[in-house]
Amino acid sequence: MLGLMQDWPLLIHRIIDHAAIQYGPQAVVSRSIEGPIHRTTYAAVRQRALAVAKRLDREGIRHGDRVATLAWNTWRHVEAWYGITGLGAVYHTVNPRLFPEQIVWIINHAEDRLMMVDLTFVPLLEKLAARLPTIERYIVLTDGSHMPATSLKNAVAYEDWLAEADDDFAWAEAEERTAAGLCYTSGTTGDPKGVLYSHRSNVLHAMQVCAKDSLAPGGVDSVLCVVPMFHANAWALAFALPMSGAKMVLPGGKLDGASVFDLIEAEGVTMSAGVPTVWLMLLDYMTSARLQPSTLKRVAVGGSACPRPMIERFERDFGIDVFHAWGMTETSPVGSVGTVKAHQRGLTGDALYDLKAKQGRAPFGVEMIITDDAGAHLPWDGKAFGRLKVRGPCIASAYYRDATDILDADGYFDTNDIATIDSDGTMHITDRSKDIIKSGGEWISSIEIENLALGHPGVAEAAVIGIAHEKWSERPLLIAVSKPGAGEDRADLLAFLDGKIATWWIPDDVQYVAEIPHTAAGKIDKRRLREMFSDYLLPKSAP
Ligand code: AMP
Repeated sequence: MLGLMQDWPLLIHRIIDHAAIQYGPQAVVSRSIEGPIHRTTYAAVRQRALAVAKRLDREGIRHGDRVATLAWNTWRHVEAWYGITGLGAVYHTVNPRLFPEQIVWIINHAEDRLMMVDLTFVPLLEKLAARLPTIERYIVLTDGSHMPATSLKNAVAYEDWLAEADDDFAWAEAEERTAAGLCYTSGTTGDPKGVLYSHRSNVLHAMQVCAKDSLAPGGVDSVLCVVPMFHANAWALAFALPMSGAKMVLPGGKLDGASVFDLIEAEGVTMSAGVPTVWLMLLDYMTSARLQPSTLKRVAVGGSACPRPMIERFERDFGIDVFHAWGMTETSPVGSVGTVKAHQRGLTGDALYDLKAKQGRAPFGVEMIITDDAGAHLPWDGKAFGRLKVRGPCIASAYYRDATDILDADGYFDTNDIATIDSDGTMHITDRSKDIIKSGGEWISSIEIENLALGHPGVAEAAVIGIAHEKWSERPLLIAVSKPGAGEDRADLLAFLDGKIATWWIPDDVQYVAEIPHTAAGKIDKRRLREMFSDYLLPKSAP
């Protein structure tokens, strides 16, 4: 027997409709690419999104067509997402930090028909346009007065283009599993892979992110969306904030410490979310300028592990509650959040920081297991580490235009992360499967050593990679960047680690470098580091 409740397809336009009705005057504030701060409201974003949909329709864009965006977080990018999906088309966010070759590859693979591009990236596209045959028109996200002279095909200023349509448009009614967004993974090996979100997965994921034990934005919050819309769906913030009525603050292209701090103060930001690199810039700026944010209370950190010293610094020096969010493009992306359970509420000091250094618990909608290489389940004892696998309605079932079967027989997706899970269900990433160091048949966590090394007062950044070893197969090498003014002292750094980890985890050597390379998503680029140290030989005294 079927229930007798209404069928209400989970379509993205319902989110912006809800925001306009319930929180119409709520502010959407952006640092524009042209410079000044721009202010609008959810009601106005909805109206302009309707106009975007109508204008795209007139442009000949049809259900399922891909419209690329190469843009920072601004109100124009947000209304473009709602306009594109409101027509039944698919937004394809292109990460400008990818190598030009990869940008060309993914646009051609997606067969994007239009490109919406920020002023910042016009010169980049002019160099690549000859190799982008599917793009029929370039829409520059600016107004007529800022429109540059450009060789881009059929280029038009977004505001001029949009002015040719009004908001008299009916959102496309589609099946809720209709494709809505496309985002390619950074692809550290092989070609990038397209993750194709649906209306249903985006709406469910936004609801999941709004839950109390998740990122939990609410109507009284002002949220700074540091995480870019071109990286893993902006952690659902472009959907979860209008859904919850929170004020939306968008930083445009300026993510340096001073710009982020100014926006936090000017807009009364209470919460934010982003990768550790951005938070390091903010912390260093606040420390050197002796500044204390007046409204910021909560910061979600993800994309890569948040080093424990950073968590301590935020909390101890600035009274800001930092919590981990783990996820990946394939998981929409939020797959776990580091909030506390009732019995953990009283934790303080080291016990609290130990808990916060872990990546947190899976919310409803994410089923999580760890297995050994043969697929056998491992216990949730906080010690056994194995392959982290997930399944749920917001997790990829396949890649776009790729026949590879990515699920196991039970429907789990292998994240390629290595993790432990404790009896509370708290998950802790110990490594990427390809970065874990296999020494004498045992595993050494590179992330754990990196976190410890960052606790040394003279270390600005640290990375650990495996170096081939005749006897042990691999041994860890610690690569460090020293803080300005601090010396390079290999012996002191190794002595600092002594006693904090098993002796056989202590790196065989330390190499100081001026800079550690990062990927397009701002993570430490271990593949590049392995190339840089491919001729390196461990000291003879190694075990
Ligand atoms: P991407 O799809 O580019 O977002 O990359 C996803 C990968 O980033 C994950 O599989 C993890 O290896 C890593 N990652 C994301 N969030 C975290 C976190 N909070 N702690 C540790 N690693 C993370």
